[in-house]
Amino acid sequence: MATLEIRDLHVSVETKEGAKPILRGVDLTIGSGETHAIMGPNGSGKSTLAYSLAGHPKYQITSGTVTLDGQDVLALTVDERARAGLFLAMQYPVEVPGVSVSNFLRTAKTAIDGEAPALRTWVKDVKTAMENLRMDAAFSERSVNEGFSGGEKKRHEILQMELLKPRFAILDETDSGLDVDALRIVSEGVNRVRENSDVGVLLITHYTRILRYIKPDFVHVFVDGKVAEEGGPELADRLENEGYDRFLTSSVA
Ligand code: ADP
Ligand code: MG
Ligand code: MG
Repeated sequence: MATLEIRDLHVSVETKEGAKPILRGVDLTIGSGETHAIMGPNGSGKSTLAYSLAGHPKYQITSGTVTLDGQDVLALTVDERARAGLFLAMQYPVEVPGVSVSNFLRTAKTAIDGEAPALRTWVKDVKTAMENLRMDAAFSERSVNEGFSGGEKKRHEILQMELLKPRFAILDETDSGLDVDALRIVSEGVNRVRENSDVGVLLITHYTRILRYIKPDFVHVFVDGKVAEEGGPELADRLENEGYDRFLTSSVA
């Protein structure tokens, strides 16, 4: 069993006014096969955590550690993180004109595995994964992220996750901008990967809606740059009913 461990992580973001502290001591341990939901109000630092794990240059780790089975993740380049088995959906958020989805996926797979996938099984795997996500075959010939709708971006994320078979997947706001049908299809994709592998999932979300489809084993409430409360799936139900108000002491009149 593999473990992704975040210890006392402090992160600042670079702004025009200088470095602004956002994460203030995040502690989180994710084992393979586990799904952890991070839930929290807007601006609490959830995406900052995701970007920090992804190695985004704007986010400066000021203290703390992130390890994958004891290996220092923060010392790795973005590519090395992917090869170590970390999947960060927002890693390639930009448009890549001229690079088709099909070529992009094959290049990523080759980079991560260290060798090109066998062509016959690969073509079949891509086709099956796309059908599962109700994606049109023509999608594979489009340029990466060029003119993708919100829903297409999310499906493309999950398509990558299905094909790259990561050890740990960090999914930030996978539910945002999806209608109920798309949400169900995307969630089924995540659940398929969970069933067919030992992946550990960090599911970051503001809303409880997606947790009706993807059942987390653990829920962490994120407030003001750190984990404020932890529990099982019942904590998500509680948040659905009560919202985040009781965590936001500063807003109490
Ligand atoms: P969440 O994902 O929980 O909504 P974020 O991590 O996006 O929260 O943002 C946390 C805080 O950090 C916010 O106050 C936001 O304005 C600030 N922040 C995040 N990224 C940047 C950035 N690149 N430049 C300036 N401020 C940022
Ligand atoms: Mg947000
Ligand atoms: Mg966010």
